Amino acid sequence: MTVPLIDPFQRAISYLRVSVTDRCDFRCVYCMSENMTFLPKKELLTLEELDRMCSTFVRLGVEKLRITGGEPLVRKGIMTFFNAMTRHLESGALKELTLTTNGSQLGRFADDLYAAGVRRVNISLDTLDETKFADITRWGRLPQVLKGIDAAQAAGLRVKINTVALKGFNEDELFTLVEWCKSRDMDLTFIEVMPMGDIGNEDRLDQYWKLSDLRARLAEEYTLADLDERSGGPARYVRLEETGQKIGFITPLTHNFCESCNRVRLTCTGELYMCLGQEDMADLRPALRNHPGDDAPLEEAIRAAIAMKPKGHDFDYSRQSVEGRMSRHMSHTGG
Ligand code: SAM
Ligand code: SF4
Repeated sequence: MTVPLIDPFQRAISYLRVSVTDRCDFRCVYCMSENMTFLPKKELLTLEELDRMCSTFVRLGVEKLRITGGEPLVRKGIMTFFNAMTRHLESGALKELTLTTNGSQLGRFADDLYAAGVRRVNISLDTLDETKFADITRWGRLPQVLKGIDAAQAAGLRVKINTVALKGFNEDELFTLVEWCKSRDMDLTFIEVMPMGDIGNEDRLDQYWKLSDLRARLAEEYTLADLDERSGGPARYVRLEETGQKIGFITPLTHNFCESCNRVRLTCTGELYMCLGQEDMADLRPALRNHPGDDAPLEEAIRAAIAMKPKGHDFDYSRQSVEGRMSRHMSHTGG
């Protein structure tokens, strides 16, 4: 019997988020600067290495894999990786294989993802206005994403929309977004902007729209019933009594969710971040690359890393400066 991954605070680690690339076909203003420097391709884990890495985590008790990036669907050959993970779903070791995507490539991949065993996708979309969409993503085009959402639903994938709450940008679309998700039977989760990485001239505090304010606005129109549902992550959910919709709030800055944290994050270069809000990481690549035929050193490196998982994070927007700012980009660690 393999001993499961338990951290020093008795949290079982059952959820791995994997960034499969730092590249993206969009340049969202809160995520990247326009002229991003990406990692040299040789730094990235190969698809085979990603398979070995994820399979080792699954063997150690990870039951949920979320594939992210950058934009996971722009990674060349990514379906080979998804197809390889199917065997863990079939064996029952893996309970869920899912991804977070900007939706731009779903027209091409939705059917294949469903065939690989993916049943749910999170699609990021901050506005339903074509001009605003082009502004916020810089390179993205709304009609292509809407086609991707159509393709996902037609393929049988359950869609959740992730919307970053941005002051002065999508405040006026709160109810439009809620109603649109209702009309398409999609869940909706709002995310607070986090201080990740240098994004050029954009100012984080200018972008920050507190979700407690968003929630209060929502409560002016709807009756909000708190749901007990917990995913082990920073999301909290309510049900809108009038429509039955589920709405999520991801508030890593204003709420402490660390006590129930069940997740770790693997970057596309094989670094394991034990906490989204801390700089500490363990480089698993040497254990992987120096021992091609033997997973024992990798298992050992993973266990040693989990033993260093911190109790919580240090983000703080409470003063008028961004404390606890992270130097790495969200696209590196995966959102
Ligand atoms: N490219 C994919 C996408 O956009 O869904 C996956 C990667 S993206 C980094 C994952 C999520 O992180 C997206 O929902 C995005 O909106 C969110 N995100 C990116 N930068 C963020 C930031 N600074 N604060 C909060 N959320 C952010
Ligand atoms: Fe790309 Fe996602 Fe970052 Fe936007 S949020 S730039 S789509 S990685």
